[in-house]
Amino acid sequence: MSTNNPTANQETHFFGDVCKNFDHAAQFTKHDAGLLDQIKSCNSVYRFRFPIRKGNGFEVIDAWRVEHSHHQSPTKGGIRYSEMVNEDEVMALAALMTYKCAIVNVPFGGAKGGIKINPKNYTVGELENITRRYTVELIKKNFIGPSIDVPAPDYGSGEREMSWIADTYATMNPGQLDALGAVTGKPIALHGIAGRREATGRGVAIAVRECVSVAEDMDKLGLTTGLSGKKIIVQGLGNVGYYSAKFLSEFGALIVGICEFEGAVYNEDGLDVEAVFQHRKSSGSILGYAGAKQEFKNTMEGLEQPCDILVPAALENQITEANIRNIKAKIIAEGANGPTSPEAEAIFYQNGGMIIPDMYANAGGVTVSYFEWLKNLSHVAFGRMNRRFEENSNLNLVNMVEGITGIALTPIQRATIVKGASELELVNSGLEDTMIRSYHEIREIYKSNPDIGTLRNAAMVGAINKIAVSYQNLGVWP
Ligand code: NAD
Repeated sequence: MSTNNPTANQETHFFGDVCKNFDHAAQFTKHDAGLLDQIKSCNSVYRFRFPIRKGNGFEVIDAWRVEHSHHQSPTKGGIRYSEMVNEDEVMALAALMTYKCAIVNVPFGGAKGGIKINPKNYTVGELENITRRYTVELIKKNFIGPSIDVPAPDYGSGEREMSWIADTYATMNPGQLDALGAVTGKPIALHGIAGRREATGRGVAIAVRECVSVAEDMDKLGLTTGLSGKKIIVQGLGNVGYYSAKFLSEFGALIVGICEFEGAVYNEDGLDVEAVFQHRKSSGSILGYAGAKQEFKNTMEGLEQPCDILVPAALENQITEANIRNIKAKIIAEGANGPTSPEAEAIFYQNGGMIIPDMYANAGGVTVSYFEWLKNLSHVAFGRMNRRFEENSNLNLVNMVEGITGIALTPIQRATIVKGASELELVNSGLEDTMIRSYHEIREIYKSNPDIGTLRNAAMVGAINKIAVSYQNLGVWP
């Protein structure tokens, strides 16, 4: 176990930035300093190392799991596979998970994991060994379980890794009925849930749509309401970026720029997101896409092109004092965790911009992970028990209305009205409801006191108040 002091880690200051945001927001709450300290601190920081076989020898892997807050159980958060990962980052991401869950009323504490590797440097077999051994290390210290701590995918990990974790956990806990609830983001065939893969990006798109629907705020920004024709640049074409771009364009926006690791492409008339994605998949690079009018080898230049909305969906610390003044967007919607530094945020607001903060904007993933966990604990797919009943009730109603009015519906109208909801429809509906309600909850707090100043502070104020109530109700034992 290692230090919980944000200033003790000199590698980065991401946790310090999250704490700075917390301290600022805490001024607008009425809780005593001790309780605020308890909410802010990372409760458990587990740092470990383990060997794997590589070639003819061994390699030692650095890894972490941080449980930030136990005001709700289990704790929840993704596992990042990245050679850049470090303790400060995992602590920051775990803290953000706590606030995120509170904001969208998901009853979990926050957690996060990290494995310090570049997955591209390992074979699939080696990645499986690393993932299984990581899971066993968590089991040994009681840092994983459906009622303890539930990992999910993050940067560099996905359904495949979650399957290995689920299988390892189930194997090590024979007969445990709820074992598959120990991890979310699993493939559907392994008791995952429809809609999880695209949930974070769908949530980002709904958050942006909701934000631009408020006339009062758009007037201040000098934008019209609605997504139709809004020009958007997305950074990162991974899980969050790809699905954010896909759903934003389905909602009527123009994706004018896409930035990836190797460069950026831009077309003010709009890019075909799917075509860019397929081009990158087949050629290995976003550059060279025929539908682009401009391309930039320096990917950061892509962020500075003309647009209304910028969606950073790659990594933290992408928008800083160094480039914020060159950003043309009026709205930044944070798909990634921590993409904007506090200093850059202050400048952006001073210049009349608005930021939809990460801890709300990308909460779609954990929301649907919550639905997956519920599905795993109840051992039944959503809609299975009531779909046919609903269809029969709808059919009776349609027959009755047709009988009374003497008007017969077309077969298509009939089928649309009668059809019961599928799991995907229920998941998407629950996600949409969560994102819309939470946005307005945050905005109400933002509007309630001009000194709060940013949507991030407002979101944090709401989160602190909810977590404080949990801690006050729980009391302190002994
Ligand atoms: P991912 O690994 O699927 O995709 C990340 C993409 O970003 C990759 O395509 C990568 O090449 C690209 N990238 C890396 N560095 C870049 C750079 N400098 N410029 C442009 N592109 C770059 O990861 P993801 O799951 O999409 O996660 C992205 C971010 O979203 C992370 O901050 C993560 O913590 C956050 N997030 C993810 C989820 C989720 O459900 N996956 C949920 C909430 C938040």
